[in-house]
Amino acid sequence: IRETGLQPFLKADKEIILRYQRKHAVEQALLMALENESLEVYYQPVVDMQTERVISMEALVRLRDEKLGFIPPDEFVSIAEKNGSVVMLDEQVFEKVCRFLREQILNNHGLGIKDVHVNISVIFFMQNDMSKKILDIMERYGIPAEYITLEVTERAAATAPEMMEKHMETLAAEGISFALDDYGTGNSNCSYLINYPFDKVKFDKTMVWSYFTSKTGKIILDNEVNTIHELHIPIIAEGVETKEQMERLKRLKVEYIQGYYYAKPMPQKEFLEFVREKNQL
Ligand code: C2E
Ligand code: CA
Ligand code: CA
Ligand code: CA
Repeated sequence: IRETGLQPFLKADKEIILRYQRKHAVEQALLMALENESLEVYYQPVVDMQTERVISMEALVRLRDEKLGFIPPDEFVSIAEKNGSVVMLDEQVFEKVCRFLREQILNNHGLGIKDVHVNISVIFFMQNDMSKKILDIMERYGIPAEYITLEVTERAAATAPEMMEKHMETLAAEGISFALDDYGTGNSNCSYLINYPFDKVKFDKTMVWSYFTSKTGKIILDNEVNTIHELHIPIIAEGVETKEQMERLKRLKVEYIQGYYYAKPMPQKEFLEFVREKNQL
């Protein structure tokens, strides 16, 4: 084979097959987890720069498979978006989050936590009954609307503007908040902030990191902070890993920080321990 020069082609074929097999295996693992309702939800704290306390948290889905081990969400969420099962995924995560709030957070005076952020896929947002499903689950667990913030990306507004407007209007009228996620990736511009009722903005980690690695990155972030503050919208900076990054963002008057510097996403129990310690409860 080596002599005929066919090897590179065979190698490429093999890679395609392996990638296909992996994708198929991940898809099977995901469908099984949805069927068994065995997806896990981890929680990452969001720290208020004024008080240095945990004020919020982001719910992040986790998939563990017996054979494949831990599968990162970036891998299976995109598969779930392609086969449509992300609607079920988001619903199951949302229900688990509401259960956690009901059982561990609300009865403890919130532990200083004002709300939980939950990621909602653009595909779920495009469903006609999305807002009804969200409100039904909240009612079932008796969750006050002020405890819920939904994270949506610009992609949702770009793909299905009317549906997005409809659901945001319905849910905001009930008192649910919205955060514009992944701000600073792709064609970021603040037009979505002006045209939709967003309550918070989440700076993507890539934008946060480039502040510290390039001159352009610094200019961009400085500008975004100014613009968004002029709109009176608070900012959550994600991906903060060092003390230096935290202090610099604090000086820029970024209101909230989320990142490994404080904590990685954790299972419920560890998250509660972290909050009790940090909020001195
Ligand atoms: P995202 O919404 O941008 O979530 C933030 C991601 O950044 C999380 O990755 C989090 O673990 C990671 N992160 C936070 N702080 C740091 C840091 O300091 N350093 C580094 N290197 N990373 C940090 P994760 O949990 O792997 O999630 C990846 C993506 O999967 C999320 O990005 C979100 O788009 C999606 N996702 C996660 N959970 C859900 C869900 O329940 N539903 C939907 N539709 N998507 C979800
Ligand atoms: Ca998010
Ligand atoms: Ca992000
Ligand atoms: Ca994302």
